[in-house]
Amino acid sequence: MTESQTYKNVIAGAEQQGDDNKNYKESNLADVIRFKMKREGKRFWAGDNISEYLHESDKEHLINEATVAFERVLDTLLIDRENDPNSKGTAKRLAKMYFNEIMSGRYESPPDATAFPNDSEDRYEGMLVVRSELRSMCSHHHQPVVGVAYIGIIAAQKLIGLSKYTRIAQWCARRGTLQEELCNDIAREIQKATGATDLGVYIQAIHGCCENRGIMAKSSLTQTTVLKGAFKDDHGTKKEFFDNIKMQQEYASK
Ligand SMILES: [Zn+2]
Repeated sequence: MTESQTYKNVIAGAEQQGDDNKNYKESNLADVIRFKMKREGKRFWAGDNISEYLHESDKEHLINEATVAFERVLDTLLIDRENDPNSKGTAKRLAKMYFNEIMSGRYESPPDATAFPNDSEDRYEGMLVVRSELRSMCSHHHQPVVGVAYIGIIAAQKLIGLSKYTRIAQWCARRGTLQEELCNDIAREIQKATGATDLGVYIQAIHGCCENRGIMAKSSLTQTTVLKGAFKDDHGTKKEFFDNIKMQQEYASK
């Protein structure tokens, strides 16, 4: 069956039954959700969050569907998943790992970042720099990307809890990404949560796809920077941000 025929069936099923994720008996739930996103022009690339298209119980169903698909992949790789004790539960483990861990940032809604007012006379006006450990995965090869993001802002009218910077960064990272896009995503989400217009994000990361395959480069350190507002336009602010990062690197536990 071609993809468009599959979608025709999904449309027919959805129209009959009120177009709800629960009504997917005729097709895979993944097909129903994909169809909805296509119809509504929602982008669903590896780095995109699609949590608004999932109901509470959908993840469990999708894990079951992905398990069957991974079983097929293992069969095609000619791995004996019936007798090899190490490969017996691998399809299910892979499915759970993708949904609950390495790509969880696609399926979970944004972290709750309560904002506190920063508008009194003695409001904090300095620069704030937070170091956030990152675990991500490259969209091209599904290999790990391991690194650190330094997030700097000059606080606007509100502040968020310090741990929220890292929660937001990790939520952006737990998807399939390109480091350049990840840097942009973190900057955008921090901007949304804090209202700050002066901010910078600097990421240093090592890429499994350069170390474990391909060029097999040892220590494939990649650096990306996104600067907005004063971080971009004011030389002093930019310098202060990178000086802070150097200090962070000196003090961070090795
Ligand atoms: Zn890659």
